Formats: sequence, C-alpha cells, structure tokens
Amino acid sequence: MLRFDDRVAIITGAGHGLGRSHALLLAERGAKVVVNDLGGALDGTGASAGPAAEVAELITKNGGQAVASTDNVATPEGARAIVGTAVDAFGKVDIVVNNAGILRDKSFGKMTVEDFDGVLAVHVRGSYLVTQAAYPLMKEAGYGRIVNTSSPAGLFGNFGQANYSTAKMGLVGLTKTLGIEGARNGIKANAIAPIAWTRMTEALLPAEFEAKFTPERVSALVACLVHDSCEVSGEVFSVGGGRVARVFVAEGPGWKTDDLTPETIAGNWEAIMAEQPYVLTAGDSMKAML
Ligand code: NAD
Repeated sequence: MLRFDDRVAIITGAGHGLGRSHALLLAERGAKVVVNDLGGALDGTGASAGPAAEVAELITKNGGQAVASTDNVATPEGARAIVGTAVDAFGKVDIVVNNAGILRDKSFGKMTVEDFDGVLAVHVRGSYLVTQAAYPLMKEAGYGRIVNTSSPAGLFGNFGQANYSTAKMGLVGLTKTLGIEGARNGIKANAIAPIAWTRMTEALLPAEFEAKFTPERVSALVACLVHDSCEVSGEVFSVGGGRVARVFVAEGPGWKTDDLTPETIAGNWEAIMAEQPYVLTAGDSMKAML
C-alpha cells in the first residue's frame, strides 16, 4: 500500500470535487494536508470559508491531520500564506497539488479580457505562485512532488474555452520545465488531464457518467504521482473513468530540403504532417534539422 506518513501535502481547490477527493485520499493514507479553497463560485466570484473548513473537519473526524486555508492561489500573498499555513501547522511541504480552477466559458469572439485574464490567473499564475512559494523548501529538503492539473480541453482544444485551454496547455509547459529543473533536487513534477463528475462538469457530461467518472478514479493517479516511489517527471497523464494514459507532445519526422519556399512546403504537406517516427525532446528535434 502506498502510504504518506510524515509527508505534508498542499492541495489547492480542495473544498470541492477533485481536490477534495485528493485531500481525503492522501490524508487517509497518512499525509498531513493543507486543504486550500477560496470557496467561490465556478466562475471565481465570491468567497467562503465553508468548503475548506468542511473538508479539513471531515479529515480530522476520520482520524487524519488537516488544516484549512482560504487563501487565493492567484495572488503572491495568498500563495505565500498557503505555504506558510503548511509550515506553521506541519513544519514543511513535500507535496503540492495545484488543482484550484475556475471556468469562464465563452466563444472566442465574445471572450473579454477579464474572462481571459481571470482564468489564466487562477490556473497558470496560481500554479506558478504556489509552487514557487514551496520550491525553496523542496530544494532545501532535496525532495518534492508536484502535480499540476491540465485538461483535455487544453491538450486538444474545446469550443468556448479559449481562455481555459490556453491556461491548461500553459500548465503542460510549466510541468515539463519543472520536471527538467527539479531533477537535480529530487523534485518531480507531473500533470494530469482528468475527466470527473464534479460541479464543474455536471452540466456538461451525460448523466450516466456520474457513476463511472468519479473523482476518486482521478485521485488514485495523483496519489501515485506524489508518492516517494514515483519514477516519472515532466509527464502528462489523461485520467478518467478508471483509465490512465500517457499524453505526449511529439514531433513527426518532418520533411527537409535546401530549397524551402512557400511553394515547396505547400507541395509536401503529406510528409510534413506525418506522425511516425516521432521525436520527444527539443534536443532530438534540433538533431533532425541538422
Ligand atoms: P470544482 O469547481 O469542484 O473545484 C475547483 C475548486 O477550486 C473549487 O472548490 C474552487 O472554490 C477552488 N478555487 C477556485 N479558484 C480558487 C482560488 N483562486 N484559490 C483557491 N481555490 C480556488 O471543479 P473540479 O472539477 O474539481 O476541478 C478541479 C481541477 O480539475 C480544476 O483545475 C479543473 O480545471 C480541472 N479539471 C477538471 C475536469 C473535470 O472533468 N472535472 C476536467 C479537466 C480539468
């Protein structure tokens, strides 16, 4: 059994849905958990201390250890306060699960700068800020586990979610670079692209998905990725309904010539679009160009 005794975990957005489920699972397996949640509406408006407190109380009632935090991940002060809560209560931070999220769906033509910035602020800026506040502690300890929450909407695009998909693909870049930079300090960072029945998706998914796409079926992967034994870093995993799959950004073999013009490109589209054999790193991409 994968246990988390003596590990301290920050889970953002843990008052509802996926974050709540991650917090309950890690706490049940011995982790000391900071249950962070601003407690606002789905679009990020408003705030309430209720959701974070309820989850922290439930954990404590079940015999686990947890403290609630209602700080906002999207501000530097909020992020520092979340990490401060972990240090004050439990003395360190081993695990950060960046899960807090909001939606402001609109078709691209109607999307305002507030819709765009607001969504990027919580998902991208929030993940950056909370991770950066915890990072010096992880470096010092030579140990850290980070999970960022991407989305199929970011990886593959989705109508009405230009802001959200930009944010969610941004988290893939953050995860990949954290994976590279963290290696020398024992810090592993991975991302998940989940599907689960929560308040965020209940109006979008077919009703019969509720029983199959439980948050617990996502949390199982998160627990695996934040455990000491995790061997992967810089990876992205699709997870939902009991299935887990690696998602990777790959570059096809490409087509090259000494006579690259708009016309030769247009005439070789089939070779340019080929997928196999692919390369997976910037270094191998560069080699293929030489
Ligand atoms: P949810 O609305 O139940 O949970 C999100 C939580 O984040 C809420 O409790 C909310 O109060 C909190 N939050 C929002 N802004 C915050 C802020 N600034 N600071 C602190 N907390 C804040 O939705 P969920 O489905 O559980 O979503 C969790 C994560 O998973 C999100 O990042 C979401 O984008 C992502 N995701 C979910 C699905 C899915 O199928 N449910 C799919 C892809 C990605």
